[in-house]
Amino acid sequence: MERFPTEKILKKKPGWKEIPIGGIVTNAGSSLLKKTGSWRSFRPILDKAKCINCFTCYAYCPDNAIKVENGKVRIDYEYCKGCGICANMCPVKAIKMEEEKESEK
Ligand code: SF4
Ligand code: SF4
Repeated sequence: MERFPTEKILKKKPGWKEIPIGGIVTNAGSSLLKKTGSWRSFRPILDKAKCINCFTCYAYCPDNAIKVENGKVRIDYEYCKGCGICANMCPVKAIKMEEEKESEK
């Protein structure tokens, strides 16, 4: 079974008559095909010394760009679009947003 049929659909570029009503996403997991980090203008920086591993940022990140590994959080910059929700929600201000530099992309 094909894992991500969305890839084929995206290559075909369907017109408005072919897309689902309401433009809904019909294929689960399609976000893995869209590495939103390439157009980020602000980058979340995690201060590990301040982090209390409460996982609030993990729960609120809309792009699943915060990963939990061995009980610690890390930011997956390939998918982070720089919305800043994690920084706003962190109870101990362990994440701060910095302007993205071209060299970091
Ligand atoms: S800035 Fe937004 S997309 Fe990036 S890790 Fe934080 S909540 Fe997720
Ligand atoms: S919300 Fe803040 S303290 Fe909690 S895991 Fe994320 S960075 Fe760490």
